[in-house]
Amino acid sequence: MEQYALPIANLIEQLSRLPGIGRKTAQRLAFYILEMEELDADKLAQSITNAKEKIRLCSICCNLTDIDPCNICRDHMRDKSVICVVEGAKDIIAMEKTREFKGEYHVLHGVISPMDNIGPNDIKVKELLARLSDGIVKEVILATNPTVEGEATSLYLSKLIKPLGIKVTRIAHGIPVGGDLEYFDEVTLSKAMENRREI
Ligand SMILES: [Zn+2]
Repeated sequence: MEQYALPIANLIEQLSRLPGIGRKTAQRLAFYILEMEELDADKLAQSITNAKEKIRLCSICCNLTDIDPCNICRDHMRDKSVICVVEGAKDIIAMEKTREFKGEYHVLHGVISPMDNIGPNDIKVKELLARLSDGIVKEVILATNPTVEGEATSLYLSKLIKPLGIKVTRIAHGIPVGGDLEYFDEVTLSKAMENRREI
């Protein structure tokens, strides 16, 4: 263990808990922060506290928002009959960039993963089902990631939603543009085959 003064050691420790930040990077960031102007360091600390304080879950779609309902749920131009279900709030940003989708979203905040002890009650499944009870929603698009957990979660949701008489679709996953067949795992390849269409 390096002989840092305790406040520095604490800062390094906290930074190294962030995803993708190893010990070396945490040290570099800590020393960078210590070199910062007092005002800038304050702004950084404030922005963390502020975001944690102000950001909550939208009471409709569970998106991260500072106003409730969130901007997407407030937008009357959006198609209320289609809900696109995603794993995380970041996925909404990605989806919105495509400008293809004009419906609403639902953020699960995770996927079902028995290995990690995450069951349906640990993600926002209840909240999704509650939105489907008023007969407005005609289609649910399952856009969880094409991982084992993402597929299992989609399957689980489709079994719950289909009996409600609502159309359930899954986004097509396949070979990314510029990809090379030999480097893809079999889930990707079999999905690509499964979702093939006539040309
Ligand atoms: Zn919302």
